[in-house]
Amino acid sequence: MARIQSLRGFNDILPSDSAAWQHVEACAREVFAAYGYGEIRLPLLERTELFKRSIGEATDVVEKEMFSFKDREGDSLTLRPEGTASTVRAGLEHGLLHNQQQRLWYAGPMFRHERPQAGRYRQFHQFGVEAYGMAGPDIDVEVIALSARLFKRLGLSGLSLELNSLGGAETRANYRAALVEFLKKHEASLDADSQRRLAINPLRVLDSKVPATQAIVRDAPAIVDYLDADSRAHLDGLRQGLSDLGIAHVVNPRIVRGLDYYTKGVFEWTTTQLGAQGTVCAGGRYDGLVEQLGGSPTPAVGWASGVERLLLLMKAQSPNLPTHAPDVYLCWIGEAGRRAAAPLAERLRDALPRLPLVLHAGAGNLGAQMKRADKCGARVALVLGEAEAARQVVQVKSLRENIPQAECAWAELPARLAGLLKPN
Ligand code: ATP
Ligand code: MG
Repeated sequence: MARIQSLRGFNDILPSDSAAWQHVEACAREVFAAYGYGEIRLPLLERTELFKRSIGEATDVVEKEMFSFKDREGDSLTLRPEGTASTVRAGLEHGLLHNQQQRLWYAGPMFRHERPQAGRYRQFHQFGVEAYGMAGPDIDVEVIALSARLFKRLGLSGLSLELNSLGGAETRANYRAALVEFLKKHEASLDADSQRRLAINPLRVLDSKVPATQAIVRDAPAIVDYLDADSRAHLDGLRQGLSDLGIAHVVNPRIVRGLDYYTKGVFEWTTTQLGAQGTVCAGGRYDGLVEQLGGSPTPAVGWASGVERLLLLMKAQSPNLPTHAPDVYLCWIGEAGRRAAAPLAERLRDALPRLPLVLHAGAGNLGAQMKRADKCGARVALVLGEAEAARQVVQVKSLRENIPQAECAWAELPARLAGLLKPN
């Protein structure tokens, strides 16, 4: 029978990779907790209207990338393409946002119908943080410092932080006029999407991925030259706060972000090591969104980071990512060895609950068992034969280090293994 294959852009994460995923997730949880952020778990499916209203109708995500369908009742639903809209929706629904401060994080799969390539998938994973009720720029500095700490914790280097400000309503109105005037002169050379967006939402033309359009907008007026006093002070404060923490950054007036809800400071962390998919984290302030979704005006700032891209970069930068290799493989010989092995394995797990230990199962002589021990990456093999079982001892063999084989009493094993397996 023909086999059923996975969907294009939807990946399985196999055991050979999942240890690295777990490591990244554990580091992220640790860093979120270190800044006092609490986890929010959000549904994968939302009403399509939520994303249309928050991300914006004239964006790539809403126009082309959403997995939307009608359910049995005829309602239009969408697999979430990002986490911010749902966080605000949930915050409003549960009364978390009105006159309050919130520091939240989320993690999980997002869905966008894009052309799959390295670092770009249809189901991908994001970590995100969102902070509500604080006008900044101190909190903007905090969320960026948190991201910098996470990347450092993951051992990543060579990331650059680029900032821009999109200003408030006044800035946008002034800038919009100047931008439209500029783009009109080049209208004929713009791609079709950009020509259409010029009329509906000209700022979107700035983050077009079409090279010819990108070449034109390189000479467009820069929004930072149009900032209102409040937005200018916010950007200056943000830059000052980052400098106080020693976080290097540059202003890049081309950053506008692909979602409509941003205001004031926006930023991206980029690398040159992942080709065209070089943005590993992106975010900014979005003071208008809570109101846009039916709440009262609430300052908000956040970012989202692509986990697959972080892992690709980690792989490129460090050859030894965590694996699921057990520390210990317990071999046994003969009926008495087999009967003693399982109780001994349980006893070791009682004494060392974090020790990954594989107990040999099934057939196989000692040679075959040792081969399995080696192949699975264990650092130590224990051998329990009839004689050892009778005397309540095992043979301890180091598989990776040059340490002579030695006998050890069962009672002494936890201490012996803890010593042998100390991280070197
Ligand atoms: P890009 O410009 O690369 O399309 P974006 O601006 O659409 O990114 P955001 O919506 O800001 O991305 O999402 C935040 C992060 O999520 C990105 O910086 C990236 O690391 C990751 N990301 C976005 N889309 C994908 C995807 N299709 N596959 C893998 N990671 C993605
Ligand atoms: Mg995109």
